[in-house]
Amino acid sequence: MTTIIDGNEIADRIRAEVSACTETLAASDVRPGLATVLMSDDGASETYVSMKQQACEETGIDGFHHEIDPDEPAAVLYDRIDELNADPTVHGILVQMPVPDHVDKREVLARIDPRKDVDGFHPENVGRLVAGNARFKPCTPHGVQKILAAEGIETEGKDAVVVGRSDIVGKPMANLLVQYGEGGNATTTVCHSRTRNLAEKTRNADILVAAAGVPEMIDGDMIQEGATVIDVGINRVEADTEKGYELVGDVDFESCRETAGAITPVPGGVGPLTIAMLLYNTVKAASHQSGVAVEL
Ligand code: NDP
Repeated sequence: MTTIIDGNEIADRIRAEVSACTETLAASDVRPGLATVLMSDDGASETYVSMKQQACEETGIDGFHHEIDPDEPAAVLYDRIDELNADPTVHGILVQMPVPDHVDKREVLARIDPRKDVDGFHPENVGRLVAGNARFKPCTPHGVQKILAAEGIETEGKDAVVVGRSDIVGKPMANLLVQYGEGGNATTTVCHSRTRNLAEKTRNADILVAAAGVPEMIDGDMIQEGATVIDVGINRVEADTEKGYELVGDVDFESCRETAGAITPVPGGVGPLTIAMLLYNTVKAASHQSGVAVEL
């Protein structure tokens, strides 16, 4: 019997923990604050940012939203980051990617105060993650870890395969799976567009994390009987719907659901966890910066 993992339910539990923490902080007059910065006209980015802001409101976090015209020079964004770094009501800063081509993405990530870098992409925080001493685990891979823990899926000694090597999902995911300790200790293989015989690798996975951004590329023949299949992909494909598209993952859900032991759907799998872990990191940042302890 395949378990269809309910990401919304797991995310709701984490949000409840976050709300409890914001109450603890409020008792000491600390209100966690998250600043989001959008420098793009992209519809999907606008949607992601507004979902993040709404989630803040629902969990007692102050959301501060900043929009910068994508035609403005890069310096406008850099200056805004400097202001937010200096603002004591802002504990977490998130610059929604992608930024326009004339903006240096690496400069943006490096400019955010690493103590406020709730995405976990600042080079210092990437280094700490790799060293096994993470300050903020990047939200999506951390969410995947939370899913595995919630479902009682042991990672130790398992063969884990991550398809995708991006800085925001694939690489940090592989790093977390390979770390010492809980949620790690997996024998981890990272695949990408140059990987030869991909199906041979994925079929060896006890735990498969698909994060390639290619609609439904993992089919039932590419997975092992009983595997845990975590689908990070969110892809818009044309469809006969009101919006003219629908969202599908990187996994062909129908062809994998019989073979998998457990599988995440899209939507309703990893997506809700990404937002929940952003709230989690924001509360953690507020706790560190204020010196008020919370239980996370
Ligand atoms: P990127 O495009 O940055 O990276 C994709 C990775 O997949 C690259 O490493 C690429 O290889 C690899 N890849 C592409 N095609 C293939 C292929 N045919 N076979 C094997 N590997 C391949 O994407 P992201 O990591 O940012 O995102 C991945 C997916 O996850 C997207 O659908 C995105 O929308 C979704 N996403 C979902 C989130 C959530 O909350 N659920 C959050 C973030 C992302 P190479 O490096 O060689 O080019």
